[in-house]
Amino acid sequence: MTNALSPNPSQALCPPWLAEYWWQLLYRHEKEQMPHALLLAGVEGMGKHEFALFAAAALLCEQPSIKGACGNCSACNQLAAEAHADYRYIATEEGSEVIKVDAIRQLVDWLHLTANGKSYRVAIINDADAMNRNSANGLLKTLEEPGDGTILILVTDKPGSLPATVRSRCQKITMTNQDTQAAASWLEEQGVADGTAALQAVGGAPYRVIRQQAGAWSDEQQLLTKAWVDLLGHRASVGKIVDSLKDYPTSRCLAHFSQLTAMATGQQQGRQFGADPATVEAISATVDCLQSEQWFTIYDRLQQLTRSDSASFKTQAVLEGLFADIRLMIQG
Ligand SMILES: [Zn+2]
Repeated sequence: MTNALSPNPSQALCPPWLAEYWWQLLYRHEKEQMPHALLLAGVEGMGKHEFALFAAAALLCEQPSIKGACGNCSACNQLAAEAHADYRYIATEEGSEVIKVDAIRQLVDWLHLTANGKSYRVAIINDADAMNRNSANGLLKTLEEPGDGTILILVTDKPGSLPATVRSRCQKITMTNQDTQAAASWLEEQGVADGTAALQAVGGAPYRVIRQQAGAWSDEQQLLTKAWVDLLGHRASVGKIVDSLKDYPTSRCLAHFSQLTAMATGQQQGRQFGADPATVEAISATVDCLQSEQWFTIYDRLQQLTRSDSASFKTQAVLEGLFADIRLMIQG
């Protein structure tokens, strides 16, 4: 039932802008007033899934605190070893967009068979709106009579897509950003230049910034790889290639070219690197442009340029000089 993509809750941290929600849950836990089913709603990118994992680990812990799970007790150790008997994670299977009724039936059976009345049994249903009608119906009875110690955590961006019968049996928490300052700082720790501005641009949902950045970074890598392949394969003039890089900081260009050069020398020696297939193929096409000593010369030059204070010179001049020398080497 726990599929291969299940993340391990013992590694989850509470998104700092959602910390208040955990304090409220902890208070209810201590008062023994935990709801049997939580519906974590809120916009995509708010951190609900991360929060659900964090809360699951904390609720299973023998001595949870305001910081979450202790990380030391036997429950925490079992969870870290992916051997905790009282935890389940349900999501869509790879290649499918629905949570199938079989997965829900197994969950329901497990809940009924393992009731021990002592500790919690916690199950996360991620993207709960992906349950089809049969799945949702299969869950209803459990939501009506959950049994002692059961905590279901349903996570969704689209609570309106869940049947009203399911929604009404859950304690709904609509998660919003409770601390934009903390969220901005967190983004900056993740390498975002101006966390406050980035957050404003996406309506306050921090993981949206991270996802957008990952996409942009990958586009950038593709563009830099193309420039490098064009250079080595004589597919465009040096001036034109340099021009295509004018929006990218020199340091990032040099770092990327160093990586590609290291990959090319590695391939020459019969080693493969763990890059994506498109990059490996692009690099394969460049390997024979130069002798191995020449690749090492280029690598050294890239390292030298990286070490020098690249902020003090203009991107275009640095890259023009480097590219012209590489073209000469290829011709020579
Ligand atoms: Zn613990």
